[in-house]
Amino acid sequence: MTSGPASPPADTRPAEPAALKPAALTEPAAPAPAEPARQGDLSDHERHIAPHVMVYLFAFVPFVALIAAVPLAWGWGLTWLDVGLTAGFYVLTMLGVTVGFHRYFTHGAFRAARGLRIALGVAGSMAVQGPIRHWVADHRRHHAFADKEGDPHSPWAFGTSPAALVRGFWHAHMGWIFDRSLTNQKRFTPDLIEDPDMRAVHRWFTPLTVISLGAPPLIGGLVTWSWWGALTAFFWASLVRVGLSHHVAWSTNSICHLVGERPWGSRDRSTNVWLLAIPSMGESWHNLHHADPTSARHGVGRGQIDISARTIWLFEKLGWATNVKWPTARRLDRLAARAAA
Ligand SMILES: [Zn+2]
Ligand SMILES: [Zn+2]
Repeated sequence: MTSGPASPPADTRPAEPAALKPAALTEPAAPAPAEPARQGDLSDHERHIAPHVMVYLFAFVPFVALIAAVPLAWGWGLTWLDVGLTAGFYVLTMLGVTVGFHRYFTHGAFRAARGLRIALGVAGSMAVQGPIRHWVADHRRHHAFADKEGDPHSPWAFGTSPAALVRGFWHAHMGWIFDRSLTNQKRFTPDLIEDPDMRAVHRWFTPLTVISLGAPPLIGGLVTWSWWGALTAFFWASLVRVGLSHHVAWSTNSICHLVGERPWGSRDRSTNVWLLAIPSMGESWHNLHHADPTSARHGVGRGQIDISARTIWLFEKLGWATNVKWPTARRLDRLAARAAA
């Protein structure tokens, strides 16, 4: 967000939803200036104990499954059906986060028809990365304070010594999610609070998590007509899939602010990491994203694969997405010049 939601006080901000704001590609897109985190950036209540226990559960159980997956893959139930279900649910929920939660809901990179808007909210929720308002509020706060005090997940939070960076990597990758303080949703997501559809999607986070974890074993069990088929589908397409997608998504916060190339002018330490381009659906072209947050395409260079941008392009062709903020050559030249300066 250029004039990040954190900049003006909540009561003076326009009531217009972020996603409906006019194209910002013509405006300067410098990140919000560094300012100290203010009290109002955080909610005045902490996460309750039951959801906090669930955070630990959902962070570690799929993680353990992911580690167990490699030895188990040899000689233990992994069928083509499991592979298909895992890939299908991975792509669906990952795009829900990258196209939906991130490029659309957080940054307003395009306008979506109501059906697409709801579908993106539902698919993003099924990635089990938290309810929509928590995700969007945390991410808008990340852009408002990127790599400065107030950023919920900067790997540079503890200093630049090797020991501080090890600690910072852990914090940015997954440590930050165990912090019980919550981002102030009234300040950062007034547009989602006002929208009845998104209030429902937010409320439905728990049932959507159950569906996300329950659908693969249901399909696996019915197709193979066996409990074993249900169990292997649950292991691969529910647990391993969620674990893998969590770590790929979290890598954008940790690796893509730590190592990699910085060809674009952004005032933080965001980087481009080509190795993660395909699993992250284009999100690892993260330096361009911080330089130009509302752009619908993050991988703008030759050969920079960006599956999320291609998906938005498809939605545009189908008429479901309009006002897509595609990068222009003039604008990219300006960003490159800023990086060289
Ligand atoms: Zn972003
Ligand atoms: Zn970032």
